Amino acid sequence: MSQQETVSDRFALAREHVTPLQAASGLAFGAAIAFALVFVQEPLVHDAMHNFRHAAGIACH
Ligand SMILES: [Zn+2]
Repeated sequence: MSQQETVSDRFALAREHVTPLQAASGLAFGAAIAFALVFVQEPLVHDAMHNFRHAAGIACH
Protein backbone atom coordinates (compact mmCIF):
# COMPACT_ATOMS: atom_id res chain seq x y z
CA MET A 1 0.00 0.00 0.00
CA SER A 2 1.50 3.29 -1.10
CA GLN A 3 1.94 6.19 1.27
CA GLN A 4 0.89 8.52 -1.51
CA GLU A 5 -2.52 6.95 -1.78
CA THR A 6 -5.04 9.52 -0.64
CA VAL A 7 -8.41 8.92 0.95
CA SER A 8 -10.23 10.09 -2.18
CA ASP A 9 -8.14 7.68 -4.23
CA ARG A 10 -9.31 4.93 -1.97
CA PHE A 11 -12.94 6.03 -2.30
CA ALA A 12 -12.62 6.11 -6.09
CA LEU A 13 -11.09 2.64 -6.01
CA ALA A 14 -13.87 1.37 -3.78
CA ARG A 15 -16.56 2.86 -6.04
CA GLU A 16 -15.03 1.17 -9.05
CA HIS A 17 -15.00 -2.23 -7.38
CA VAL A 18 -18.34 -2.18 -5.59
CA THR A 19 -20.81 -4.44 -7.34
CA PRO A 20 -24.58 -4.06 -6.92
CA LEU A 21 -24.53 -7.21 -4.77
CA GLN A 22 -21.86 -5.72 -2.52
CA ALA A 23 -23.80 -2.47 -2.33
CA ALA A 24 -26.94 -4.40 -1.41
CA SER A 25 -25.15 -6.42 1.27
CA GLY A 26 -23.58 -3.22 2.57
CA LEU A 27 -27.03 -1.66 2.82
CA ALA A 28 -28.37 -4.77 4.56
CA PHE A 29 -25.46 -4.64 6.99
CA GLY A 30 -26.12 -0.97 7.67
CA ALA A 31 -29.81 -1.69 8.22
CA ALA A 32 -28.91 -4.52 10.62
CA ILE A 33 -26.63 -2.17 12.57
CA ALA A 34 -29.32 0.51 12.70
CA PHE A 35 -31.89 -2.06 13.81
CA ALA A 36 -29.52 -3.35 16.53
CA LEU A 37 -28.87 0.21 17.74
CA VAL A 38 -32.60 0.98 17.88
CA PHE A 39 -33.25 -2.33 19.62
CA VAL A 40 -30.54 -1.65 22.23
CA GLN A 41 -31.61 1.95 22.78
CA GLU A 42 -35.37 1.27 22.88
CA PRO A 43 -35.47 0.82 26.69
CA LEU A 44 -33.60 4.11 27.06
CA VAL A 45 -36.01 5.84 24.69
CA HIS A 46 -38.90 4.25 26.53
CA ASP A 47 -37.57 5.55 29.86
CA ALA A 48 -37.05 9.00 28.39
CA MET A 49 -40.60 9.09 27.06
CA HIS A 50 -41.83 7.79 30.40
CA ASN A 51 -40.00 10.55 32.27
CA PHE A 52 -41.29 13.05 29.73
CA ARG A 53 -44.87 11.96 30.35
CA HIS A 54 -44.39 12.40 34.11
CA ALA A 55 -42.70 15.76 33.57
CA ALA A 56 -45.73 16.77 31.49
CA GLY A 57 -47.95 15.80 34.44
CA ILE A 58 -49.37 12.65 32.86
CA ALA A 59 -49.47 9.85 35.43
CA CYS A 60 -49.25 6.43 33.87
CA HIS A 61 -49.05 4.27 36.96
ZN1 LIG B 1 -44.76 6.31 34.93
